[in-house]
Amino acid sequence: MPRPVVSAAVAALAALAAARPAAAQDERPGQFRPRPGEGRTPEFPPPTILEYKPRSTLVVPVHHVPRAKFPVVDFHGHPPALLSRDVIDRVVQAMDALNLRVMVNASGSSGERLRQQIETVRAAGHADRFVFFTTLDLRNVGPGSGRKLAAQLEADVKAGAAGVGEISKAFGLSYRKADGTRLRLDDPELDPVWETAARLKIPVFIHVGDPSEFFQPIDYQNERWLELALFPSRRLNDRSRYPSFEELMAERDRLLTRHPNVTWVLAHLGWHANDLARLGRLFDALPNLYAEVGAILYDLGRQPRTAHKFFVQYQDRLLFGKDSFQPDEYPYYWRVFETEDEYFDYYRDYHAFWKLYGMGLPDSVLKKVYYKNALKIIPTIPRKGFPE
Ligand SMILES: [Zn+2]
Repeated sequence: MPRPVVSAAVAALAALAAARPAAAQDERPGQFRPRPGEGRTPEFPPPTILEYKPRSTLVVPVHHVPRAKFPVVDFHGHPPALLSRDVIDRVVQAMDALNLRVMVNASGSSGERLRQQIETVRAAGHADRFVFFTTLDLRNVGPGSGRKLAAQLEADVKAGAAGVGEISKAFGLSYRKADGTRLRLDDPELDPVWETAARLKIPVFIHVGDPSEFFQPIDYQNERWLELALFPSRRLNDRSRYPSFEELMAERDRLLTRHPNVTWVLAHLGWHANDLARLGRLFDALPNLYAEVGAILYDLGRQPRTAHKFFVQYQDRLLFGKDSFQPDEYPYYWRVFETEDEYFDYYRDYHAFWKLYGMGLPDSVLKKVYYKNALKIIPTIPRKGFPE
């Protein structure tokens, strides 16, 4: 009876095939078999990495999306300081053109500066377009700092702050404690702060680390070579100065796990946009965890099918966010999320040596990512202007 044997083999093969996509892509230069003509060198001087810009001859449908299909909450906004009517009017005008209904000012501010921005926005008649987060000064943390920061957090929330953040990547990478040691993400001194955020039911928006390649040697296999060569401050591969990527992630996961009642929002998909299954496991383990998509569009756009499945599966946990406020860059996000366009450019060539593809998300998922999830975790955002 060969049948059961065949189906067992098929099942084993299917299991293998299912396991494959989870593995990192393992192609490395030099592993290809020899080919005729191997060893040839270019007859002309090869261009530098900066010079080679081939024109694409691909002819496929093109859909530019200057305005998002549904109103959007930008959970990761860094507008200029909203302290004058003129600046506020300019930002609102740019938001209107993009269909950005509400911007979270994630350049958190505290005390007087927070009160001033809230007041100025209200006086300008745009109180329904901005949400303000408070910030935590995590430098020189020592005994008693946690209680002090928690009290400040409570006062800022009373003054109108709707969340904490963005907590800077300096937390974990470079902030030192009063005793000179690196402030670890899971330092128990800060427990009262996170517990206060949980009690006040406000989200904590945290940026941990940077893309994993920033922690690696800057060699010609590093897919962020050019960016690292251009920006000295992004080089984190000196282990005598910085923890490793995995050390930071382990600290972060211990922090999240120890405070499961906090509504955590990871900036930049926790820097797991190149390994969405890893973020999925974190979502599975932590029901109060959310993540925001700022500045990682290049990773979603190179895996449109995997990203589509991930967004459908975790549609209740993902938030739109942009990070730097460059109005002309938002339409790239709309295009990746809303269309099925193929092989188009990203807005920064030093981020990505590849083209983008549209994910073609269904309306129901777009609505959750664009605004419904944000309205759920920041209930004080006015509902005005958002469809059901
Ligand atoms: Zn940011």
